[in-house]
Amino acid sequence: MAHTASNLPHANSYYAATAKYPHRYPALTESITADVCIVGGGFSGVNSAIELVLRGYSVVVLEANKIGWGASGRNGGELIRGIGHGIEQFTNQIGKEGVAAISQMGVEAVQIVRDRVATFKIDCDLAMGYCDLALKPAHIKEMQEDYDDLKAQGYPHELRMMNKDELSEVIGSERYLGGMLDMGSGHLHPLNLVTGEASAAASLGVKFFEDSAAVEIIKGKQPVVKTATGQVKCDFLLLAGNAYIGHKLEPYIGGKVLPAGSYVIATEPLSDEQVASTIPKNMAFADLSIALDYYHLSGDNRLLFGGLCTYSGKDPKDITGALLPNLERVFPQLKGVGIDFEWGGMIGIGANRLPQIGRLPDAPNIFYAQAYSGHGVNATHMAGKVIAEAISGTAERFDVFAKVKHMTFPGGPMFRSPLLAVGMAYHRLKEVLQ
Ligand SMILES: Cc1cc2nc3c(=O)[nH]c(=O)nc-3n(C[C@H](O)[C@H](O)[C@H](O)COP(=O)(O)OP(=O)(O)OC[C@H]3O[C@@H](n4cnc5c(N)ncnc54)[C@H](O)[C@@H]3O)c2cc1C
Repeated sequence: MAHTASNLPHANSYYAATAKYPHRYPALTESITADVCIVGGGFSGVNSAIELVLRGYSVVVLEANKIGWGASGRNGGELIRGIGHGIEQFTNQIGKEGVAAISQMGVEAVQIVRDRVATFKIDCDLAMGYCDLALKPAHIKEMQEDYDDLKAQGYPHELRMMNKDELSEVIGSERYLGGMLDMGSGHLHPLNLVTGEASAAASLGVKFFEDSAAVEIIKGKQPVVKTATGQVKCDFLLLAGNAYIGHKLEPYIGGKVLPAGSYVIATEPLSDEQVASTIPKNMAFADLSIALDYYHLSGDNRLLFGGLCTYSGKDPKDITGALLPNLERVFPQLKGVGIDFEWGGMIGIGANRLPQIGRLPDAPNIFYAQAYSGHGVNATHMAGKVIAEAISGTAERFDVFAKVKHMTFPGGPMFRSPLLAVGMAYHRLKEVLQ
């Protein structure tokens, strides 16, 4: 199973090979106290830690493996506006104001990332410019609706609907019918972002422990989190293990998030001619299908190409063999290009695709943030902020998320993933037939 959290090194990715912040933290070997203990050292955990330490709390982060070991250090690196999908569906639960607040936070979330990079001078190849891509007329319609909503909301960045001809300004591919250019979204090196953020947090006083899986929680006025060799007693606890949290530590949240595998390949560095004929303006791209292709250039001009979506909990035997035909379908001019890296990670899927941000019903001092459903680089940063706001006494924005109901997937730990695989195969079939 690819999603077992257990004291492992970083995935063998392009990101790990080009890591700029190789800092290591000790394992927890004693009994300590903190105002806030955070389980999980990905974007959610690290950014909550930054927001909390800036508000004056003492913070401890427990990470089962290495900081950024999970999805945060392996993802496609696409920093895309918005939180959740089709958020109008929640109007009856959170009202029009709630929907408007989430839309606004979807823009703020990207700004938080840009501010982190600027404030802490994080070297993570951040570049702005992104384009949604349409494979069929229904995608154009979807983009147009998104464009109209963003314009009505006063989106502060350049936004442009592009037809097939106009699209050739930004991408050398015949595969798409049109696109929507968004200069308020972009791409970055996610492992360097999360480990750079952790270095900044550590310099502000956050205590990080790696190889320190939380194995038991004792609830109470002051929750206690136990690892194999130590424990943390705290006033507030945040569970931010996302797809890697498993079912045992806290079944209430474990049953609401399903791990789904997504995968990335990195080509050899492209020549200037290859760059000019594929992605001449250094933008990120993704199409709008369920099992989407997403891609952009790295800082050293490799094409990082991601896709696939598996629900079995097992990695494909040959990631390159599975992804390369998709890359060549988008860019036939790259046929024969060398592939230097392949890797994958687990996305945390929630049934309604809105991030799950809340408190445990039986323990209001225990918070959780998870299930970004493949769109978490920005949303995790927003989650960190609203959780810190709630812990420090301003729960208005946190409550917008906490009010939304999230279904527990049926089937129990053994059968959830196979059931979801059947459900998703059905949705993909419907998509192809449309
Ligand atoms: C291949 C891939 C591509 C993606 N591409 C994009 C993209 O381009 N754009 C985008 O917006 N989103 C993308 N995502 C999603 C995005 O990466 C995630 O939404 C985001 O990183 C989630 O961050 P997190 O901190 O919540 O979880 P994670 O980064 O997964 O971190 C959770 C951490 O918790 C730790 N942990 C778990 N259990 C315990 C425990 N018991 N004790 C201690 N620690 C524990 C794990 O070891 C892990 O390090 C992608 C995801 C994947 C896998």
